[in-house]
Amino acid sequence: MTAITNHLPTKELQALDAAHHMHPFTDGNALNAAGARIITRAKGVNLTDSEGHEILDGMSGLWCVGVGYGRQELVDAAARQMLELPFYNTFFMTSHVPVIALSAKLAELAPDNINHVFYASSGSESNDTNIRLVRHYWAKKGKPTKTTLISRKNGYHGSTLGGGSLGGMASMQNQGCPIIPGIHHIDQPHWWAEGGDMTPEEFGLERARQLETAILEIGEDNVAAFIGEPIQGAGGVIIPPSTYWPEIQRICDKYEILLIADEVITGFGRTGNWFGSTTMGIRPDIITIAKTLTSGYIPMGGSLISDEIATTIADGDFNHGYTYSGHPVAAAVALENLRIIQDEKLVERVRDDVGPYFKAALKTLLDHPMVGEANSVGLMGTLALTPDKAKRAKFKGEEGDVGLRCRTHCFNNGLVMRAVGDRMIIAPPFIITHDEIDTLVERARKSLDQTYEGLLKDGLFVSA
Ligand code: PMP
Repeated sequence: MTAITNHLPTKELQALDAAHHMHPFTDGNALNAAGARIITRAKGVNLTDSEGHEILDGMSGLWCVGVGYGRQELVDAAARQMLELPFYNTFFMTSHVPVIALSAKLAELAPDNINHVFYASSGSESNDTNIRLVRHYWAKKGKPTKTTLISRKNGYHGSTLGGGSLGGMASMQNQGCPIIPGIHHIDQPHWWAEGGDMTPEEFGLERARQLETAILEIGEDNVAAFIGEPIQGAGGVIIPPSTYWPEIQRICDKYEILLIADEVITGFGRTGNWFGSTTMGIRPDIITIAKTLTSGYIPMGGSLISDEIATTIADGDFNHGYTYSGHPVAAAVALENLRIIQDEKLVERVRDDVGPYFKAALKTLLDHPMVGEANSVGLMGTLALTPDKAKRAKFKGEEGDVGLRCRTHCFNNGLVMRAVGDRMIIAPPFIITHDEIDTLVERARKSLDQTYEGLLKDGLFVSA
């Protein structure tokens, strides 16, 4: 038998990992020197590592395990489908039952004007689909010059060449991902970091109107679409001012620009509605989905597409697709996952119960000397760490050092809380209980205390 088992000593697993496994978004040498933490199993909201430590997963894996770990129903759905029909493609004028059932279900859940799905296996691939889709749509409408997509700095839309270009992460684009032609970036609605003396409402309008300025500069006849996350996730859980999205919607309507809501994180209940677009009051033409679609049990992504776009494109071939578009096992798992979310009323739970409880619990951390902002929408939360709350100041020294210190303390205290720069972000599974939220915040406070003490000791609790 050649399988590696959980029973190997941690050091041996780490050595094999260091020798052969290249990790995403990771400094390989630093990781290999420290040794990866090996996660061996999980149940509910808790992970267990190879040393037997229990860790509360405040990030739902990577924003995806909405229904929690250890769901037998999802295992059974996958096993049944693997026996019945493990794979068949959807290219050859063929279809299969799970993909048909899932598409009908997604059409039922999506906003009224959206009743069509194009599948992929990840969020990145789905956004690559969207780039081609909107350009093809406008060509079909007799407006072939409408090709530019406008997106935001510090937005995240994936790691492929298309997704990485749409995203606004210079650290990615500097590494072999020059922005592909026809993408234009405007500034993000990040009031805490960039709002200066404006009120959040004024700032929200100012940032949204950058879209109008860009459209006028590029020319309405050259712009295909605007893409944004209803709430930026990987950029640090940036909750936009209330004025932002209504103004973006007005501008898209006025200039005939398609609106793509990238709901890879916000989709399927995270914000307390089935879609973050509903929470933000917008009417997208396309919605990018992945992650909570299957609660991460198996990879699947897709684009939910308006009737207008789908019917226009239906006239002739759309020469695009992936081997695993609409994979039957992934579709069966997605369908069962959506059934669980619906039957257990997890969206309502996030909106009316654990979401408000989580918000109030996070806000108790505002009395901490280092926490300048503690906010959330549904189960998407953020803490801004600062040496000077009134000035919303950054720390002196390399941005992100404080966040990383805090993340390390969190791990050691049994909590996964992610750092983006010096912001901490939290997105626990929808099944989290009040008691577990209390535990999460207790561990967060302990980690913040340890971070603060460390900074004081090292003379680093100082503004930039
Ligand atoms: N869009 C958004 C908003 C995301 O948060 C992510 C992943 N975090 C992606 C796209 C890319 O998805 P994937 O990693 O599945 O390719």
